[in-house]
Amino acid sequence: MKKIIPLVLIIIILSGCAAVSGTYSDSFFAMDTYMTVTVNGKNAEKAVKDAEAEIKKLDKKLSAHSGSSEIYRLNKNGSAKLSRESSELIKQALKFNRLTDGAFNPAMLGVSELWGFSDKKYKVPSDKELAEALKKVKPEIITVKNNTVNLNVKGMKIDLGGIAKGYTSEKIVKLLKKQGIDSALLNLGGNVQALGSKPDGSGWNIAIENPNKKSYLGQLAVKDKAVVTSGGYERYFKKNGKIYYHILNSKTGKPAESGLKSVTVISGSGTLADALSTSLFVMGEDKAVKFWAKSDMNFDIILYTTDGDLKISEGLADKFKSDINYSVIKRPDYE
Ligand code: ADP
Ligand code: MG
Repeated sequence: MKKIIPLVLIIIILSGCAAVSGTYSDSFFAMDTYMTVTVNGKNAEKAVKDAEAEIKKLDKKLSAHSGSSEIYRLNKNGSAKLSRESSELIKQALKFNRLTDGAFNPAMLGVSELWGFSDKKYKVPSDKELAEALKKVKPEIITVKNNTVNLNVKGMKIDLGGIAKGYTSEKIVKLLKKQGIDSALLNLGGNVQALGSKPDGSGWNIAIENPNKKSYLGQLAVKDKAVVTSGGYERYFKKNGKIYYHILNSKTGKPAESGLKSVTVISGSGTLADALSTSLFVMGEDKAVKFWAKSDMNFDIILYTTDGDLKISEGLADKFKSDINYSVIKRPDYE
């Protein structure tokens, strides 16, 4: 098990001066990862503390592993009345399951438990065990009505790990805005979301880590955007020289080996960026590019293949800087 932190290094350039008044930043551990919240403006310290408290509250609600969470209760009983927040996020997760033709699958906890990703006691399950567990993965028959969620299959278990951090960053941005904050940067374990711009009005510079080396794929300047990366290099275990990572293909129940090393999704919505970065990683390059080209949702992508090819979608052309050769994917080429 190896977790490289941070997945995305954030370079905060505050006009060459670290002590700009009204900037407050704090790091803490939540949702099984390291997080940093940086806020500029009046009452910045209070805003960061409030954000941290809210993130920890959401973690308690949404974690599939904590015995006191709403999701744990739902998984244990097969149906449960949840808070509006949890049931809304489940609805969103099910929406992305449909939109991505099953690549995003929030009902695979039973399968990922077989691999030991929940309790970190890693093992390689047999094909028979996987086939049995996959029989219980049927997100299409989950119902959500008046905040009551019914899984409708005995033993099916929900896991919001592929979407919860993006949802959380989006929620925190809304909370900060309500407090009158217009400049902030969140890094929730590689899920980055920028509110507004840096105090000098320029975009936040986000460095995208290179999964192969201790260097970067490039750098992106963004305002009011989430930048979310999914990769097989982030959480994994090694057995007999083979690497097994935590993003699973719901058709096979095995780690998604799709030819991609990492996928970054850039969008105004943190929830969308998180769900789609996981989904496109499962899809692989060809399907991911087609999905992006045909989608009416507004997002950009950075794909890095196991062969070392780097590709960015056309919307990033004037924002992305890199020392590595990369190509620009244009929508008309796929229509
Ligand atoms: P991370 O949370 O590690 O930053 P992701 O957003 O890609 O990365 O989410 C991976 C997590 O999502 C896994 O740890 C697991 O909880 C869950 N997951 C694994 N495979 C899938 C999948 N195909 N669809 C949706 N969620 C998944
Ligand atoms: Mg994700």
